[in-house]
Amino acid sequence: MQLDSPLLLGYVVCVAGILGLVMGSFLNCLAWRMTHGESVLHGRSHCTSCGHVLGPRDLVPVLSWALSRGRCRYCGERVSWRYPATELFTAIVYVSLAVRYGLTLEMLELVAFASVLLVLSLTDLDEYLIPNATIVAAMLVRVAYIVAMGATGQADAMALLRDSLVGGVVVAVPILLLALVMDRVLGRESLGGGDVKLLFVAGLYFGWQQCLFLVVVACVLGLLLAVLGVNGGGDGDDPHLIPFGPSIALACWITMLVGGQVVTWYVGLFMG
Ligand SMILES: [Zn+2]
Repeated sequence: MQLDSPLLLGYVVCVAGILGLVMGSFLNCLAWRMTHGESVLHGRSHCTSCGHVLGPRDLVPVLSWALSRGRCRYCGERVSWRYPATELFTAIVYVSLAVRYGLTLEMLELVAFASVLLVLSLTDLDEYLIPNATIVAAMLVRVAYIVAMGATGQADAMALLRDSLVGGVVVAVPILLLALVMDRVLGRESLGGGDVKLLFVAGLYFGWQQCLFLVVVACVLGLLLAVLGVNGGGDGDDPHLIPFGPSIALACWITMLVGGQVVTWYVGLFMG
């Protein structure tokens, strides 16, 4: 369903924005728990410094942080700006996908995939780790989408599944080989195993044509982040180690928004 009336568009933007803020808060918490060995399902949100359980007043996205001037209300410890930043960023991602895809299955699929990408970006920034659970979650989202497309008669599920798998393999195998060669040449790990798995997942979603664009964008972003010296800011960070996951994740988002057009344009240059 296209968002052709301004009223509907405004409504969808508001809903996607609010949902994004709330989900951003939840995904942040999920990423934190994954890297700190806490149960993802059980236990209430608490201050990471004093352990005080947070009430409803402390859990309003962005506002709670702004009103308490970035400090815990109970112990006064600073709360990282990364929390409100993630919440705002998630809202921007949700709104952009809702506007780009309208009320479609594809929009639902990509919002779910983007949520997984946010979690693994945060864990990669903090611990240089892309948890296997996030890779599996991204694959399950893709499979659910394919099943739903088949069930609603919008696509041939088997053909879609086959194309997805081909995309994943065609993208991941050359990158895996390249990483192994670079490991040999550099004498250290060049590209983490998590990065290769993530690029396999990107291949499942976007196919190899769009992934050519995606990999170029990811490399440019990775270089940019390396130059800017962005790292997780966690304890004992090696300043020479830049996590590549967030760059791939950002490139995935850009591909969701413009990947199709870029490939059409590029192919058009040669078909003229
Ligand atoms: Zn506290």
